[in-house]
Amino acid sequence: MNQKYEELMQHVEKMEALKAAIVLFNWDTETLAPPQATDLTARMVGSLSSQYFEETVSARMRELLGELKDAEDLTEAQAAVVRKLNKNLEDMEKIPPEEYREFSELQARSTSIWAKAKQQDDFESFAPVLKKIVDFSKRFAGYRRKEGQSLYDAMLDEYEEGFTKEMLDPFFALLKEQIVPLLKKVVPKNDAIDVSPLRQSYDTAKQEAFCRFLAGYVGFDFARGVLAESEHPFTTGLHNRDVRITSHYYENVLESAIFSVIHESGHAIYEMNVDDELTQTPVGGGASCGMHESQSRLMENMIGRSLAFWEPVYPKLREAFPEHLSGLSLADFIKMINKAEPGLIRTEADELTYCLHVMIRYEIEKDLIDGSLQVEDLPAVWNEKYEQYLGVKPENDKEGVLQDIHWSQGSIGYFPSYALGNAFAAQIYHVMEQEIDVDKILRSGDLTPITNWLKEKVHRFGEMRKTKQLLRDITGEDFNPRYYIDYLTKKFTEIYEL
Ligand code: ZN
Repeated sequence: MNQKYEELMQHVEKMEALKAAIVLFNWDTETLAPPQATDLTARMVGSLSSQYFEETVSARMRELLGELKDAEDLTEAQAAVVRKLNKNLEDMEKIPPEEYREFSELQARSTSIWAKAKQQDDFESFAPVLKKIVDFSKRFAGYRRKEGQSLYDAMLDEYEEGFTKEMLDPFFALLKEQIVPLLKKVVPKNDAIDVSPLRQSYDTAKQEAFCRFLAGYVGFDFARGVLAESEHPFTTGLHNRDVRITSHYYENVLESAIFSVIHESGHAIYEMNVDDELTQTPVGGGASCGMHESQSRLMENMIGRSLAFWEPVYPKLREAFPEHLSGLSLADFIKMINKAEPGLIRTEADELTYCLHVMIRYEIEKDLIDGSLQVEDLPAVWNEKYEQYLGVKPENDKEGVLQDIHWSQGSIGYFPSYALGNAFAAQIYHVMEQEIDVDKILRSGDLTPITNWLKEKVHRFGEMRKTKQLLRDITGEDFNPRYYIDYLTKKFTEIYEL
């Protein structure tokens, strides 16, 4: 092996150890840590984070990366590690240290200011902070951007490398043009789908047992993973042999935990299947936010809400809750879990309306960054767009513009990844259906051929190959939103017999 690379890996090992410690603390905070631990633990996490930061910009690291940048004897994986570390370093160096520190301090306060503003439905108390965040984000994007790149494109690039407004505008235009009218046809038919059978009292311990079975059923490996409880479901991981997911069980909403566990399992299986050569390196995670989301959405929606999936599984759910479900047919159950209803809250949205929530945020972010929209006008614009696209109007900002944490964290340009994830999933699923008999596999009750296919095509590459390249390798074409629109149109036309 290249000796310089070997030395680099000693630094990487230290960085990975620090990162794993931070991840474990965060996991613990969300799951088991006692309430009073928060402040003191935060100090330790702060100390670990600065050690991590020092390691990434250390003088020796710089030297090594400079020397390895154009090395020709590196494997594809090694070259990807060097590229990623170099990019981190370059991005970091472009931002003046005092501005970086100022922004970090602002970030440390801004989420709690947002949380309070949301709780008290008081946008005005959050607006000045958000203004500062927008200013910082614009300035940082200005430092990072390549020649000729717009500020918002530089922000998008942080989350989905190579994706631009020029690619996203036609995607969201297509959604607006096709899905908004489709939704208008769906809504009047909703009275015929009564979900009250899923709103009875379902014992949460029994729900958990069923979800545990379900996670394993879709491919989550309990020898390398943990399922715990938290307020909001999430996935985190230390490496490909320790991936953790959480769920939250609602007594009166049976399907909530079921689909969040399938969703998080989709994320987790991705992490578990990353090649050994890549795990515990800076490219040991998923290709991008959107690609990660594609794997959870594919499992949750395309697989998990299909009739073929439930044919072997529904009898087991009935067995767990015979008094509740003995009178409910599989066909009716499928309609209920696919019911599409416009609502105000993105995280509770169904498959059909979800991307419209994202579209609203995308339109707002673009205008906010190019200066055509001011922070103080956000609530009014938000409400208008909800009425226009979803036909619902928030009563307050708590259920409106204050609902998401992202902007308070400085994550501007992140939302489109959620929508892209769904579209990537449809594009990948289209190819999968041509290469293997998905329905037959689902009916067989053994999903291994599906997870193996995903491992082979997507998971094993971790972040070594970028999303754009992966998509091209798998599907033979660039990002194409058409598959997603076709998928939604076909599915909801069938379910709602339009
Ligand atoms: Zn997700």
